[in-house]
Amino acid sequence: MKKKKYNWPMVAVLILIPLIGIFGTATYVYLNGIIWQEPVIMFSGWWIAGMGITFGYHRLFAHRSFKAHPLVQFFAMLCGSAALQNTILKWSSDHRTHHNNLDTEEDPYSITKGFFHAHIGWILEDKPVEIKGVHDLEKNQIVMFQHKYYWAIGIGLSFVLPMIVGAFYGRPLGGLLWGGFLRVTLVHHFTFFINSLCHFVGKRPFEPESTARDAWWVAFFTFGEGFHNFHHKFQWDYRNGIRWYDFDPGKWAIKFLSFFKLTSDIRKVEEYIILKARFHGLKESVQLEYPKVPARVVSLYKEKVQEVQGQAKQVYEKWHEVEKEFKLMKIEGFKDKLQKATINQNRKMLKMEYASLLNGLSVILMSIKSGNYIQA
Ligand SMILES: [Zn+2]
Ligand SMILES: [Zn+2]
Repeated sequence: MKKKKYNWPMVAVLILIPLIGIFGTATYVYLNGIIWQEPVIMFSGWWIAGMGITFGYHRLFAHRSFKAHPLVQFFAMLCGSAALQNTILKWSSDHRTHHNNLDTEEDPYSITKGFFHAHIGWILEDKPVEIKGVHDLEKNQIVMFQHKYYWAIGIGLSFVLPMIVGAFYGRPLGGLLWGGFLRVTLVHHFTFFINSLCHFVGKRPFEPESTARDAWWVAFFTFGEGFHNFHHKFQWDYRNGIRWYDFDPGKWAIKFLSFFKLTSDIRKVEEYIILKARFHGLKESVQLEYPKVPARVVSLYKEKVQEVQGQAKQVYEKWHEVEKEFKLMKIEGFKDKLQKATINQNRKMLKMEYASLLNGLSVILMSIKSGNYIQA
């Protein structure tokens, strides 16, 4: 095996920041106590930078899942720079490569090389900086401005600014430790979790063979990016958590700003397409169980699955027609309230039908997994 070369200055920086962040801050607190401004700077800075990554770097720039007013773009660029995770250009290049080559040798933070590699190990390796597949971003002036002045912006916002804020109440060192070192440590590791933890724990409802996973509780540690199996299936959807109550502050911010026309062209996968993907995910999960099942029952399961699939296809096609009709009406204008209500009613019915088929498939999967095979 090839011996890994490390980027030693990077190793030193990524060890020193958390060391100073944790032990430096603890010592400072021991000697000088805590005043309320310090945890507030840390917490708000952590969230501002974390949102800069999820809202800005990830969904706006890397995936282009919505459009944003230049002012919003600029602000997102500033917030993301404070996360100290390299430039938008480099970040997006790595991230798009991750999506397009998941779990292959090309994937920069492939979990197949272990949790540590996916979390931080990949950043520590000494590799030539490669930027590819981001021509669209190279045309964006805000992105290029950041690329040019990245270190000044990043270090200014991460360390100089909290020190200045601290100086206002007479504790610049406190500002630097709480709002700088400790805050950067938290932003780093909580966003690194997206590459490690999100490919490590949770369910795989959409792509059972992918390493990306959905876990609602991981969303709380990753600024709402815990629904990673869905995200890998539909990377351009502006949401990660698709149910309204799924913890996803990025999604809420994008939607909220759209009411003021500050974000637009928000891309969202239609519900029936998501349900179809869910169906395929479940079907694949069933198929993955076949080798473990006695030969005499496999054909019976295949038949059952075939049957449900035929029914699902029919419902899907009907639903597709309803949506086509809806789009047409939206362009031409609805005749009356009744027309819209009828479409909504149809949608509801089809959703119920599809949900019951999904349920049927879940029962098949459960029976196969538990060994309580269905009888002919
Ligand atoms: Zn991923
Ligand atoms: Zn992504």
